[in-house]
Amino acid sequence: MLNFSAVEQVLVLNASYEPLNVCSVRRAHVLVFKGKAEVLERLERPLRSSTDTYPWPHVIRLVTYVRVPRTVQRKISRRALFARDGWRCVYCGTSGGRLTLDHVVPRSRGGDSVWENVVTSCAPCNLRKGNRTLEEAKMRLHAPPRPPAPVLFIRLAAPRIPSGWQPYLTGFSSATASATA
Ligand SMILES: [Zn+2]
Repeated sequence: MLNFSAVEQVLVLNASYEPLNVCSVRRAHVLVFKGKAEVLERLERPLRSSTDTYPWPHVIRLVTYVRVPRTVQRKISRRALFARDGWRCVYCGTSGGRLTLDHVVPRSRGGDSVWENVVTSCAPCNLRKGNRTLEEAKMRLHAPPRPPAPVLFIRLAAPRIPSGWQPYLTGFSSATASATA
């Protein structure tokens, strides 16, 4: 059974079928009504306006490919960062204890608060690294940090993914950058 909020959310795919984001039913309906999107999945319930009845959109696909520029990358939040890194410290791999946000190149050394320079670190590793670079601290990353793919934000926006969305999300890892990154 779908709960109310899940029903109210619509999965938006790019023209390439890459998951883009989640929007409201109202917003999705406007996109479809204007011919900017097509309905791929609908729910068995009517969407009523004052004069007409429409299919209830559940998954829609944009008609025109939308390029997601790097400059409008999503804001960094701890929740999204920790989710990107699998809720583990990138240095020692622990998933226990308190997780923190670490700047790989410390801010005091000119490091920016961008996805490519922030990682999930346990408190002890963060303390050990302190104000040093990786080389100075003799610590290493298994992989360079990247901006998360849109699917990560979709999973965060909809903690319980409706089953009707699943086929459109499988194969899109939340840990890797999107094709445009
Ligand atoms: Zn650690």
